[in-house]
Amino acid sequence: MNRLEIDWTRCDGHGLCATLLPDDVALDEWGFPVLRGREISAGAAPDVRRAILACPALALRFADR
Ligand code: SF4
Repeated sequence: MNRLEIDWTRCDGHGLCATLLPDDVALDEWGFPVLRGREISAGAAPDVRRAILACPALALRFADR
């Protein structure tokens, strides 16, 4: 099962992930991401991969659980 994971030692709260993946990521009141915990479907995987590469802090990744 593929889900998103955030490396909190890297995330700077830029919020770009929530803009690129509104179905998967919300922002808290301080602008930090809150994962919605959705399983990433095969159809959504390319968009998620693009968001992972776009994260300025390289803090997003897939978590296999
Ligand atoms: S784009 Fe990266 S650094 Fe910005 S909030 Fe999302 S995970 Fe954090």
